[in-house]
Amino acid sequence: MATNNQIDANGYYGNFGGAYIPEILHGSVERLTEAYFAIKDDATFKAEYYDLLKNYVGRPSPLYFAKRLSELYGTNIYLKREDLNHTGAHKINNSLGQILLAKRMGKTRIISETGAGQHGVATATACALMGLECIVFMGKTDVERQFLNVQKMRMLGAKVEAVTSGNMTLKDATNEAIRYWCSNPDSFYIIGSTIGPHPYPDMVAFFQSVISEEIKVQLQEHIGRDYPDYLMACVGGGSNAMGTYYHYLNDERVKIISAEAGGLGIESGESAATIHLGREGIIHGCRTLLMQDEDGQITEPYSISAGLDYPGIGPAHAHFAHTGRTKVHAVTDTEALDAAFELTKLEGIIPAIESAHALALLKKEKNTFKPTDIVVLTVSGRGDKDMDTYVKFFTPNP
Ligand SMILES: *Cc1c(COP(=O)(O)O)cnc(C)c1O
Repeated sequence: MATNNQIDANGYYGNFGGAYIPEILHGSVERLTEAYFAIKDDATFKAEYYDLLKNYVGRPSPLYFAKRLSELYGTNIYLKREDLNHTGAHKINNSLGQILLAKRMGKTRIISETGAGQHGVATATACALMGLECIVFMGKTDVERQFLNVQKMRMLGAKVEAVTSGNMTLKDATNEAIRYWCSNPDSFYIIGSTIGPHPYPDMVAFFQSVISEEIKVQLQEHIGRDYPDYLMACVGGGSNAMGTYYHYLNDERVKIISAEAGGLGIESGESAATIHLGREGIIHGCRTLLMQDEDGQITEPYSISAGLDYPGIGPAHAHFAHTGRTKVHAVTDTEALDAAFELTKLEGIIPAIESAHALALLKKEKNTFKPTDIVVLTVSGRGDKDMDTYVKFFTPNP
C-alpha cells in the first residue's frame, strides 16, 4: 500500500475537495482523519486488511487478456476483473478497509448510504462479518427498483431506512445519512465512493488502490513491464477509477481515460455527465463539480445505471480532468448497452451496466490504438443486478 497522496494538508486536490461539514461533526471527522493517517503505514492493520482481501474477497482479482475483444479493436486489452470479488463489485475493498478502521476506533454502529444497493450490500456484509450494527439509508425509489439488494441487506442483518425526501434517490439518501450522523456523531459513516468531506476521498482511493497495486504485478507477469499505455474505468463518484489509476497518476507514459454517464446524451437534459456539464459547488461535504441550474439548485441526474446516477463527482476526478491528466468521455445509455452485449458475446462476461460505460470507451478510442498498445480496463462489477435492464433490450432465443 504505497501512497500516492495528491491532496494537500487540508484535503484539496487543486481547487477541489476540502471538508465542508457542520460544526457538530468536526470532532468526529478530526478523530477519523487521525485514525486513518495512523493506519496508512501500520503493518498490523495492513496484514489484517490483506488477509481479508485474499481469503474473504478472493483477491487478487484476475487481470484477464481478452483475446477476442483485442482482435476486434486491433490492440491488446486486459480486463481487471473486480466483478469476481465477493459481493460482485469493487465496493467490498473499501467497506472492509473502513470497517477495520471503525473497529480500531471502538465504534459499534455503522451507517451508510446506497443508490443501487451495491455499496449497501458490501457494507452490510462487512458488518455481518464483524458483528456490528448496520443502518443503510436508501431512497424509497431505489428501495423499490433494487429490491433484491434490499432483501440481501436485510438478510445480512442491516436495517434499511427508506428515505422519502427529494427524488428519493442516492442524493437524498446521502443527505439523510449525514443528518443522522449529525445527531449520532459516534456512529461510523462508511462512505462508498471517493466523495464526501476530507479524509473520505483520499481514504476510499487508498482502500481501492489495491486494484492498481495488483495491476502492476500482474502486467509484469503478463508482458514483462509494469505499466500499460492506457487505463480505462467508469466514474460515478470515482472509486473504482481512482483505485485503477492510483499508482499510475504520476506516470506520464500512461494515458488515463474515464467514462461518465451520458444518459440520453449530454445535450438532452437527461444525463449524469458531471465533468462535461458541472460547475463548481459544494455537495455532501466537498467542493467539486456539480450539476446545477443557474440558481445553484442541484439538477436531477439521469443514467440507465443507478451506480453512476449522481449529480457530483469525486474531487480528485474534477481535478485531474481539469489539469488534463485524465480524458473523460460521456457515454450514453445506448453505447453502454451495446458494449455490454459485445463483451458478453465475445468473452462470456456479463458486466455491470456501470462497467459497460468503461467498455464503451474502446470504440471511442479505437482510432488511437496501435497493435502493440496495452490497454487495461477495469470491469467494476458483474451484471447480475442489471439483468432486468438487459432483458428489455434483447430477444432471448425461442
Ligand atoms: C457503485 C458502482 C460504480 C460507481 O462507483 P465508483 O465509486 O465511481 O466506482 C461502478 N461500478 C459498479 C459495479 C458499482 O457498483
